[in-house]
Amino acid sequence: MSRKKVKQVFENIEVIDAGAKGKTVAKAPDGRVIFLTNTVPGDVVDIQTFKKRKSYYEGKAVKFHTLSEKRTTPQCEHFGTCGGCKWQHMKYEEQLFFKQKEVTNNLTRIGHIELPEVTPIAACKEQYFYRNKMEFSFSDSRWLTLEEIQSDKNLEDKNALGFHIPGMWDKILDLKKCHLQADPSNDIRTVVKNFSVKNKLPFFNARNQTGLLRTLMIRTSSTAEIMVLLQFFAEEKEQRELLLDHIIKTFPTITSLQYVINSKGNDTIYDQEVICYHGRDHIFEEMEGLQFKINAKSFYQTNSAQAYELYKITRDFASLTGNEVVYDLYTGTGTIAQFVAKKAKKVIGVESVPDAIAAAKENATLNGISNTEFYVGDMAKVFDHSFIETHGKPDVIITDPPRDGMHKKVVEQLLAIEAEKIVYVSCNSATQARDLSILDEKYKVLKTQAVDMFPQTYHVENVVLLGLR
Ligand code: SAH
Repeated sequence: MSRKKVKQVFENIEVIDAGAKGKTVAKAPDGRVIFLTNTVPGDVVDIQTFKKRKSYYEGKAVKFHTLSEKRTTPQCEHFGTCGGCKWQHMKYEEQLFFKQKEVTNNLTRIGHIELPEVTPIAACKEQYFYRNKMEFSFSDSRWLTLEEIQSDKNLEDKNALGFHIPGMWDKILDLKKCHLQADPSNDIRTVVKNFSVKNKLPFFNARNQTGLLRTLMIRTSSTAEIMVLLQFFAEEKEQRELLLDHIIKTFPTITSLQYVINSKGNDTIYDQEVICYHGRDHIFEEMEGLQFKINAKSFYQTNSAQAYELYKITRDFASLTGNEVVYDLYTGTGTIAQFVAKKAKKVIGVESVPDAIAAAKENATLNGISNTEFYVGDMAKVFDHSFIETHGKPDVIITDPPRDGMHKKVVEQLLAIEAEKIVYVSCNSATQARDLSILDEKYKVLKTQAVDMFPQTYHVENVVLLGLR
């Protein structure tokens, strides 16, 4: 089929739904579904398609006839260009509605499971500035708008410090203000950028692998501590110290200033040495009197306030009395395990990242918790019959796997163990639904509760309580 034929325009189409991966949905006259990105349910639009498949099109609205009442004004000037916060143009209560719908649809359509009455999704109190961690990239060839390219003005500053343009690995949007992390995040990023430009510190060029400044990570916390980490492509002591000293001088509230010299092709810091330049090499996060020590490489839920809500729901679902043996699978740094420990006889946490387990143990000691045990291992390999024999049959299993859900072997092992209750925390209700459909043989869904951890995005968390039939 020629390209020309694939591009079609459908006129006066109403957008009817929103869901999977943040796309909105309309129906073409030929019955196919059309996935869109630049509309809100309720809009009536002309749609130009750019991809055609057996059962769907992908397209975009090229003319708006009616604007939906579900719309609102995006707060952020980068909306539409930046890859984050794609639902900003939808009212918050509508975002919640479509998140809830997505979870329920997945559980019923993929999981084919009988659901109890669904409780309303837990809204997030803060709809902006809710993240505690952001990572920005430097680039010497920033993303230019069409107007900038077309104008004959000489572009003086081509440097950028911000986010990748979706689908373009070497193009960075120069952020003016990001609405995801509270102050002083924007100030720090702006000062770092302006000072670096003024002092001619070379920004990274991903194509040629040249330059000095690579990434900037900022972590804020509920304890008011701030961690800043600069990643350099090479060791240039004088320039590095010039910048780091300026950061300390300008932001005395930074409690941890660290850096990495990374000359690899990719910019992940997980296999790199992190060097502490000023202050401590960690910050603390606090939840219900528990302290969690976080270093540059630690995983911690990125929305601290809403993580607390998520954990409370998880603990409520587990309804512990103090006598239970609890397993916390995919425990990360053991936060859920420690959060429920007071109400359990013993909690066993399992996780594949050794550093996370080391942090979990350290935090448990720090918190004076003596009834938790943590083990390193790939769930699909270590969670076998002998593991259960060694650590005791669990009364309650809490599981919080990554987006892919649980390995089939792990699900089968859950069926074999027959714990009285399973609390399944998921950041992807599609894979959760798949796993629940296998568990359905022995487990009934007693409760299901969606939680909004990431306002302005389509991501949604879901907690399910399963009871042994
Ligand atoms: N419950 C934790 C972290 C959940 S994120 C919290 O709330 O903070 C999921 C965790 O699963 C990550 O820490 C990841 O490292 C771990 N993980 C991913 N695949 C795994 C596997 N195959 N076996 C064990 N742990 C795994």
